[in-house]
Amino acid sequence: MSVLVYTENWNGKFRKSTFEAVSYANETAKLLGTNVVAVSLGEVSDDELNKLGNYGASKIISCTGVDKGDSQATTNIIAAAANDASIFIFSNTYTSKMIAPRLSAKLKVGAISNVIALAESTSPVQVKRKSFSSKAIETATVNTEKAILSILPNSYQLIETGGSCTIETLDSLDKGALTIEGQETTSGKISISEAEIVVSGGRGLKGPENWGMIEELAEVLGAATACSKPVADIGWRPHAEHVGQTGKSVTANLYIAIGISGAIQHLAGVNSSKIMVAINTDPEAPFFKAADYGIVGDAFEVVPKMIEEIKKLNS
Ligand SMILES: Cc1cc2nc3c(=O)[nH]c(=O)nc-3n(C[C@H](O)[C@H](O)[C@H](O)COP(=O)(O)OP(=O)(O)OC[C@H]3O[C@@H](n4cnc5c(N)ncnc54)[C@H](O)[C@@H]3O)c2cc1C
Repeated sequence: MSVLVYTENWNGKFRKSTFEAVSYANETAKLLGTNVVAVSLGEVSDDELNKLGNYGASKIISCTGVDKGDSQATTNIIAAAANDASIFIFSNTYTSKMIAPRLSAKLKVGAISNVIALAESTSPVQVKRKSFSSKAIETATVNTEKAILSILPNSYQLIETGGSCTIETLDSLDKGALTIEGQETTSGKISISEAEIVVSGGRGLKGPENWGMIEELAEVLGAATACSKPVADIGWRPHAEHVGQTGKSVTANLYIAIGISGAIQHLAGVNSSKIMVAINTDPEAPFFKAADYGIVGDAFEVVPKMIEEIKKLNS
């Protein structure tokens, strides 16, 4: 019996959400009195793989030569690596959302997404998760002997153990039947789903030419940039930045909404953020009811002042 964690990488590098998943897996393994096996797919250097040991993985199964975008192939590999694993841990990223349900169907194991805390019980597995677009927290129970848990990024802490791991390679597997025709990556940017700070703009910014101040505010804060749905729909910003019910989910420590009204569909994707700040000219804007802090004012006056003050603090 072991805990198996899928360790996603981006161009051969792990991110914070991967280490959070390994930390979570290690704490789960302690509850079960067992160890953590990590599965890594694609080209990742040994130095990078060894970092997983510092968060509690004792063994890494590394499989190169696989297209990580092929969810059939990746599911087959994780299933083959499963052996005696009783709990499977994923980070709730887009890739994992493609793999975890497939693995659930393949192994006939119950799966819970949006997990935000360590299991309250391991037999049966019972955990807290966010539901109803993060409006509610429920305790969910898995009725199968084994369980798959997908952890919401930024909802579990990093725990360094100072440990080390062994690395095994796995190859010659059934590669699945999908053909990937193309993949687009938004390189060099901070990922919205994992960012600690997100600066987001809405239709109140009037046009794409005004996004310079949003990008500058994001830069001085070390934040990711996001936008409301209509802003992406009219092509002011790329769809990769659209957040909300039908876009990406934000679980940041700080979400700054600028010129965004606060429609229910927008809030559904961002209200898991720990602190929300709204900047809006309309004191009746719905966002002010959800926000922790509000500035009633014109974004074109407020944002440059914020940038100036933050630059002073940074220096
Ligand atoms: C099925 C469905 C799914 C949807 N999914 C999403 C989703 O995932 N994400 C999403 O965002 N929306 C979604 N929507 C759309 C949502 O209902 C809203 O229409 C949308 O969020 C509004 O975007 P907005 O706040 O940018 O624009 P608006 O509603 O036009 O609001 C602009 C705001 O800017 C303020 N403003 C104007 N000028 C300034 C200024 N100079 N300074 C500061 N503030 C200013 C205004 O007071 C106003 O509050 C969905 C809708 C449906 C029906």
